[in-house]
Amino acid sequence: MSENLNWCYEQKCLKTVKSLQRNGFEAAYCTDKEKAYGKILEEARNANSIGLAGSMTLEELQLMPELMTMGKELLRRDLPGLTPNEQDAIRRRQLTCDLFLTSTNAVTLAGQLVNVDGIGNRVGAMTFGPNKVLVVAGRNKITEDLHAALKRIKSIAAPANARRLNKSLPCAITGFCTDCDSPERICRATVILDRMPSLSNIKVLIVNADMGY
Ligand code: SF4
Repeated sequence: MSENLNWCYEQKCLKTVKSLQRNGFEAAYCTDKEKAYGKILEEARNANSIGLAGSMTLEELQLMPELMTMGKELLRRDLPGLTPNEQDAIRRRQLTCDLFLTSTNAVTLAGQLVNVDGIGNRVGAMTFGPNKVLVVAGRNKITEDLHAALKRIKSIAAPANARRLNKSLPCAITGFCTDCDSPERICRATVILDRMPSLSNIKVLIVNADMGY
């Protein structure tokens, strides 16, 4: 990428970090994925139990090998072989873990975190419960405003996730949202964190790299 384009993205990232801080979140800028990786591991050192949301951003960072060698209790519901009841138990335990790792569907330049969930466990854990929540967002998640954030979710994040999860949904077939009434619909709970919730402890890493969707 050209230096000038990288600079443009950097300004967007820095503005978003400032806005998040103004909104009460702890927030930091990471120049690249490696910096983000290091900061996540720093946070992980202080935690015994770590909950991981299903996230392509976290997948891309390939955190699991290092977290496993650190001997942490890792709460993941996407491990093969788990029964629905076991997955549900993990979702509930994530609500009270020491550190909840997640990304966000979108983050606005004004410093709002915008997410749409099918079950609500992820947005629940982001809002209240874990001792600390660490949100990792690539520059591709930054949007001009709330309207653009919601548009991004319905036009990119949800269709891509629906396809990743092999859902029988219109958006997984055509790539376009039809505001479906499918029983498998993954857009059910829309949560906008305008400010950091009053009893939460949320840190957001804004990374100058495209990560996840
Ligand atoms: S509302 Fe339905 S079609 Fe639209 S993005 Fe969500 S799951 Fe896909």
